[in-house]
Amino acid sequence: MNYPSYAEIALPTRLQHFIGGTFVDSGDTFANHSPIDGHELSRVCEARQSDVERAVEAARSALQGPWGKMSVVERAAWLHRIADGIEARFDEFVAAEVADTGRPIQQAKALDVARGIANFRTFADLIKTAGGECFETVGADGDEYLNYVTRKPLGVVGIISPWNLPLLLFTWKVAPALAMGNCVVAKPSEETPTSATLLAEVMRDVGLPAGVFNLVHGHGPNAAGEWLTRSPGIDAVTFTGESRTGSAIMKAVADGVKNVSFELGGKNAAVVFADADFDAAVDGVVRSSFTNAGQVCLCSERVYVERPIFDRFIAAFKQKTEALRIGSPYEAGTTTGPLISRGHRDKVLSYCRLAVEEGAAVVTGGTVPSFGNACDDGAFILPTIWTGLPDTARTVNEEIFGPVCHVAPFDAEDEVVRRVNDSPYGLAASIWTSNLSRGHRVARQIETGIVWVNAWFVRDLRTPFGGAKLSGFGREGGRHSMDFYSELTNVCVKVI
Ligand code: NAD
Repeated sequence: MNYPSYAEIALPTRLQHFIGGTFVDSGDTFANHSPIDGHELSRVCEARQSDVERAVEAARSALQGPWGKMSVVERAAWLHRIADGIEARFDEFVAAEVADTGRPIQQAKALDVARGIANFRTFADLIKTAGGECFETVGADGDEYLNYVTRKPLGVVGIISPWNLPLLLFTWKVAPALAMGNCVVAKPSEETPTSATLLAEVMRDVGLPAGVFNLVHGHGPNAAGEWLTRSPGIDAVTFTGESRTGSAIMKAVADGVKNVSFELGGKNAAVVFADADFDAAVDGVVRSSFTNAGQVCLCSERVYVERPIFDRFIAAFKQKTEALRIGSPYEAGTTTGPLISRGHRDKVLSYCRLAVEEGAAVVTGGTVPSFGNACDDGAFILPTIWTGLPDTARTVNEEIFGPVCHVAPFDAEDEVVRRVNDSPYGLAASIWTSNLSRGHRVARQIETGIVWVNAWFVRDLRTPFGGAKLSGFGREGGRHSMDFYSELTNVCVKVI
């Protein structure tokens, strides 16, 4: 079955900011290009510093209104209304994600838009059942006191998100921030501005009070992103993106000592022990390496396979990788779309050249496919497997963020744990073994925020999500998000 209808869904062709409950233009625009065939999808307004400041002021004044003081039951109802609004325009959101990123339509439906909705519903439900700590205390004077904790909104939260899972990651921050009574100024990636604009339309259409949700479009350095982080009117920044950008943001907020939550880059490992269910492990590593053309922060770019099954694993991995269908998401059977842009493809291709210079044997991929149609003007690259690189190679240590991975053999459990941990990053890892004692043992030793055993990318939104080392700090998800997006006050009352 083909999906031409998704290409025909009308999407906005001029993407404006949403400030104080109104869509506003700002003279300068930049082009949003399709990564599928390079055509111009829309013109996007580039925010001026004054637009960002107006958005922050709108958020500040909305904070003085009823939003921050609303009961959690009322706020939860608003979040459900927003989720209903996305659901009512489900196909438009799918079309927006597919147009901006080129991802397979099934993925946009089952993952991106479904999670966009789930993010609002999950936090709507969580806030209704969240309690607070309470302690009975006997003071040094022998008197009795009751300590209890109240939660207040943090204030105005600046939200900055990347392009790889646009709606999913944008709403992963917007939903809990609103749930805790904050007002937000959010900047989506300049590469993927469409679904955030549709979300602003939903906010307007459900009648969310003006200024609670503000959207500014634009670039990062010396543009909307940086101005947002430097605005004196914000109280916190939550950011998902590259580690280097996280570092720049940390410097920008340092003078104001603002709260930050960072979900940053990774160089994740998959470890396959010889006792693993072989087919499940191969399928799992194909998914963990090449889902979304390798552009998920959780993707594995380093694969370690126990030596007795190494050759067999490489043969099966190659065969299943070559069976992936690369191409336009509007064609039936496509499993793998393009990279986000020609610029990003250039970066990934430069790593492909570097890998060969560093001594890699190319098992498959590493080149640009030829389609003989409009996709030749897109940003496609073949899924790529390398072997033979030393652990010190740049291609084994630096995040590439494309459909590329290096597979290396290992001989012993403690050796592979050491090699996995010998990385500046610490986001996620997956372990494939039928020995669950080993699974638990290795999981505890791996220096990442997330470890899957015989699984990959299974997410329960109540669990803590985030990374160690260069992969960020702070955790989001469930009560961890609620903690980040609220200010706790301890109240101590003398009772006797
Ligand atoms: P990026 O850091 O280039 O950009 C992310 C966002 O930050 C964009 O909106 C951009 O405009 C903005 N930005 C850039 N420079 C800025 C600055 N100086 N000040 C303020 N804002 C600025 O990242 P990307 O290329 O969009 O996304 C890919 C990266 O995101 C990869 O490193 C990937 O691993 C990471 N990522 C991490 C997670 C996670 O949960 N840990 C999830 C998804 C993506």
